[in-house]
Amino acid sequence: MNIRVSYGTAIVLGLIKARQDVAPTTAYLLFDSGCIGQCSFCSRANGNERSKKLSRIIWPEFELLKVIELLTTPPQPFSRVCLQTGYNPDNETELKKLAVTLAQTGIATSVTLSPSQTALASELLSLGLDHVGIGLDAASPASYAEHKKKDWEQDWPALLNLLKQNGEKIEIHLIFGLGDSEEAFCQRIQKIIDTNGKISLFALTPVNSGKAPEMAEYRRMQAFRFLCENRRIRFEDCKFADGRLTNLPISGYELITALENGNAFRTSGCGNCNRPYYNERPGQAFFNYPRPLSVAEFSSAIEDTHLQNS
Ligand code: SF4
Repeated sequence: MNIRVSYGTAIVLGLIKARQDVAPTTAYLLFDSGCIGQCSFCSRANGNERSKKLSRIIWPEFELLKVIELLTTPPQPFSRVCLQTGYNPDNETELKKLAVTLAQTGIATSVTLSPSQTALASELLSLGLDHVGIGLDAASPASYAEHKKKDWEQDWPALLNLLKQNGEKIEIHLIFGLGDSEEAFCQRIQKIIDTNGKISLFALTPVNSGKAPEMAEYRRMQAFRFLCENRRIRFEDCKFADGRLTNLPISGYELITALENGNAFRTSGCGNCNRPYYNERPGQAFFNYPRPLSVAEFSSAIEDTHLQNS
């Protein structure tokens, strides 16, 4: 059996010889035998297996056994594996087998699933998977209908149930740039955190259509996500004008300290997940920093937020 491996992961494993500016700290693998999802922003939607890309990433294929051998040979190059999947209920048995095989290597293993697969998420956690990432992506019923072509009324309550049972092991993937206002986006983040989930934040990568968010908007969403997850602020205590986040309830030295040297602007998600170049090309400014920020990068990220003092 073959498995797709992200280009950056394949370099770390020695399967591809190429230069790498920032190495992934999680091994990203892709199991997709034809996704039936219709997400507007995905190059693999509607069963397009031929696309070699998912987000901005190229995923060459290698033999699974070889990949597992490289992942488990000391010194182990990764302390987490993330199995990304296309949505296809017909391949769930095969997916379960593969996920369990990876978890049995002893490396903490995450799996990404569709919001329609909450039952499978619980099952995989009970079979030894470490974390599950759920691609909710859109933050409101309207953007969910428009960009995911799925039924919010069915999926959101099922997701809340999953979060109530297993919240600390669930990362909800949210994409900023699908038309949700900052206010609607922050409100959704707060609801997920209040139900014990965590957020894995992405900027829209316009591979099909649409446009990437402004850096200022994205920096504000990162700051809100980080401070909210760390229980430093709540949605109700923030100020918004025309849907834009204008003031946080903390400011000055307190805010700078709470942003923890720029950790607020790094990739968010499962432990050790840094997803380099998912949202940007090498050489472009990072939406999600895949590594610690320099002092200058931290100052400029704070400036980018254009947040006013409360
Ligand atoms: S946060 Fe990272 S490791 Fe976790 S499921 Fe999402 S992509 Fe995978």
